[in-house]
Amino acid sequence: MASPLAPYWQNHVAGAWIDGGAGRIVVSDPANGEPLAEQALADAADVDHAVMAARALHLSGAWFGLRPVERGRMVRAIGQYLLDHAEEIAPLLTREQGKPLWEAHVEVAGAARYFEYYGNQAETLEGRSIPLGADYIDFTAYEPYGVSAQIIPWNYPLEMTARSLSAALATGNACVVKSPELTPLSSAWFGRAAEAVGLPAGAVNVVCGTGPEAGAALAAHPHVNQIVFTGSVPTGISIATAAARTIVPCVLELGGKSAAIVHDDADLEAFESDLRWGIFFNAGQVCSAMSRVIVHESRKAELVERAAALARSLSVGPGIERPEFGANMGAMVSEAQRDRAEAMVAEAVAAGARLAAGGHKLNRPGAFLEPTVLTGVSPDMRIAQDEVFAPVLSVLSFRTEAEAIEIANGTPYGLVGGVFTRDIDRAMRAARAMRAGQVFVNEWYAGGVETPFGGYGKSGYGREKGREALWNYVQTKNVAIRLGGTA
Ligand code: ADP
Repeated sequence: MASPLAPYWQNHVAGAWIDGGAGRIVVSDPANGEPLAEQALADAADVDHAVMAARALHLSGAWFGLRPVERGRMVRAIGQYLLDHAEEIAPLLTREQGKPLWEAHVEVAGAARYFEYYGNQAETLEGRSIPLGADYIDFTAYEPYGVSAQIIPWNYPLEMTARSLSAALATGNACVVKSPELTPLSSAWFGRAAEAVGLPAGAVNVVCGTGPEAGAALAAHPHVNQIVFTGSVPTGISIATAAARTIVPCVLELGGKSAAIVHDDADLEAFESDLRWGIFFNAGQVCSAMSRVIVHESRKAELVERAAALARSLSVGPGIERPEFGANMGAMVSEAQRDRAEAMVAEAVAAGARLAAGGHKLNRPGAFLEPTVLTGVSPDMRIAQDEVFAPVLSVLSFRTEAEAIEIANGTPYGLVGGVFTRDIDRAMRAARAMRAGQVFVNEWYAGGVETPFGGYGKSGYGREKGREALWNYVQTKNVAIRLGGTA
């Protein structure tokens, strides 16, 4: 087992720390481009080892067979373990991912919260009794699928893992997590937590490997019974295709191009906080980021001015030097991601959009992009259609309510949406009309672990968070009993 900034990190399989059949990968610090540590890289044989360990545990009944309250306590204890080690985990996350240290602490707390929430739900999955007349007793029971495979993206390696792992464990599944190649180090803490709280070996397996090798091997493994994936649309298609071949259900969360509709009566001063969190949190690398604002033309100038001032006010630099909540932003995850975003901004400007703030990389080492506000964006531009996954806001304008909804719904995605107005009727009309899995009224990200989250359209299917997420991890069994003859 490695210490927080050990030079080499192993995978966690069947309760043991092991090397990878595919060798090692160098993990870099995006704040300076320098190597941070090496991570063991799993090959298909390692993935098979992990799946078979999870399957063996499942079949043994040593996890699923526990009384749910016992399982729930252990799940909650994982969260507590993460909180107890936040001072070690958060700096590690910052150094591999780039986010400010205070944001890394927010993520550790968010990850812990999932284990609390789903730990508490473990003993709430009760079946029902269905009346079939005097000659029968019938009841339903919720059983875990067995082996839950979870393929994790690099933007929130702790929270995304916690989201699926907590619910899968609470419902009695054994799990194989494929951690992201860019940010794999902090995931080791899930293996440590599982050991520390006494989960049986094989309940939590964490392997890092490349997507095309380890990820694809996991998605296609014949003994995986359920798959959770968060990431890009093309990868989601590959995974869903693999899952179709083995006939296993998937949950797919594939990003978005989410829009806030800002009406003429909106409180724009309050909206600055929504912009702050909506597009500049985690340097905009958030599936549900507010990447578009669709503002009534009468308030556009004021909104653009406020957004540009906010963007310029953020101090951008190494996350490790940003321990306190405030007007700051860290590095993006990699120079490749930063360069892709910068190129998309340049293309938008060439297509007629105007830069109200930012738009360029910082003149220093590291994957830094200026907080960026683009105005004069039209709905058909690529910047208004494709996910940028960066601190890049596109401002569009509307005249009529119907036009606002049409623009908001005018992408293939449908993850979240927002409407900002003092008029409850207008807000409710938008809430009904927006094609999105979550609608925020007057506060971007209103909700929490308790509220179901997931996409319409190409944002994917299935729901994470809330009670809804539990149904991803269980299958219903009906038991019908014919009673004996006459008395
Ligand atoms: P991004 O393009 O943002 O890196 P991806 O969707 O490619 O997002 O990656 C998200 C996760 O999916 C990562 O853990 C990655 O290793 C994994 N992955 C990538 N390609 C595949 C694949 N073909 N099969 C399974 N997993 C994959």
